[in-house]
Amino acid sequence: MVNQLNDYRCDFPILDQIVNDEPLVYLDNAATTQKPQAVIDRLVAYYQNDNANVHRGVHTLAERATAQYEAARTKVQTFIHAAASAEVIFTKGTTQSLNWVAGSFGPTVVEAGDEIMISVMEHHSNLVPWQQLAQKTGAKLRYIDLLPDGQLDLESARQVIGPKTKIVSLAHASNVLGVVNPIKTIAALVHAQGGYMVVDGAQAVPHMMVDVQALDADFYAFSGHKMLGPTGIGVLYGKQALLEQMPPVEYGGEMIDFVGLQSSTFKELPWRLEGGTPNIAGAIGLGAAIDYLTQIGMANIQAHEQALVTMALPQLQAIDGLTIYGPQDAAQRTGVIAFNLDNLHPHDLATALDMEGVAVRAGHHCAQPLMRWLNVAATARASFYLYNTEADVKTFVTAIQAAKEFFQ
Ligand code: PLP
Repeated sequence: MVNQLNDYRCDFPILDQIVNDEPLVYLDNAATTQKPQAVIDRLVAYYQNDNANVHRGVHTLAERATAQYEAARTKVQTFIHAAASAEVIFTKGTTQSLNWVAGSFGPTVVEAGDEIMISVMEHHSNLVPWQQLAQKTGAKLRYIDLLPDGQLDLESARQVIGPKTKIVSLAHASNVLGVVNPIKTIAALVHAQGGYMVVDGAQAVPHMMVDVQALDADFYAFSGHKMLGPTGIGVLYGKQALLEQMPPVEYGGEMIDFVGLQSSTFKELPWRLEGGTPNIAGAIGLGAAIDYLTQIGMANIQAHEQALVTMALPQLQAIDGLTIYGPQDAAQRTGVIAFNLDNLHPHDLATALDMEGVAVRAGHHCAQPLMRWLNVAATARASFYLYNTEADVKTFVTAIQAAKEFFQ
């Protein structure tokens, strides 16, 4: 299974290079992913042949650009199994999507004394916007506990989600612990109390089949650049009735219907939430990324990453002094592995790996409260994607062993 997808590696020109005299092994996919030639070509073709503003002109290029931009929206709709393309709003990325829900939808349902529920594993993008909403409304920000191995504590969720809970917002998959959260179960709990389920899908949509209707998510956010697409494009999915209820964050071009001197009316969804010229090329590039992922199949991608983790985990666990954060069983994990080695600073470790051509991330991964929960200042993190191979895992493990010997 591990080798099944290796053919795809050659679709990614950036991977074919030497870094510090060694072939590049790119294991920083949770931060951002590389782009296949098909996505790069699609961007070039758009700018070479079809570039125009959308929804404005009647000339041929404008019609082509509009058709391609809206076709990308339909691709997203199909990919995440949304009920309608009007439920797909293009944004800059996960951070903007979550800020819009907290900043614009939030105040329509949250009042002083209400509760907003998140967890300590959240990325800052799914934490700080809720702090802001709580501070502005006088609501209380509460945390669902984690189990000692980093999984969400469902018992704690059952206890804390109650009649005051207006919003629960959780990562679908953690960018540090490698766990997948039981969104469908939590959504049922919060819906039973009349609240709303918001999902940070930044680390899930690129790696597994996501069905927003099956999850019964009210809002679902993700980023194009973490799923082979361009930077600067992302998605906010929302149930249509809730998006209707959400005031636009930005007013101006593209989103208006009639503008009077004192008041204006706005377009229907999804355009009323997309003020200004959107990231047209970004959306079209994301559409090409979705075509690419769909052609491989999300189940195959997930199985491939699972096979890589199943291979990597025991080899890492066998290294004396290496700590892996999150569940120790590969079956309970995604392709994200955060770790520390002895008392080495993770930046030193990442630099040592870089000298071997291996790119990993080091730092707090935009999850400072989680770092405190883990009782560390920072960790190193390797994260796999569909183009990583068995050979990448071997190089990675060997590079850690070499770093251990070097720093001893
Ligand atoms: N949420 C999670 C779980 C992430 O991993 C990230 C990115 O690292 C984000 C949110 C923010 O994504 P972006 O920077 O693309 O807005």
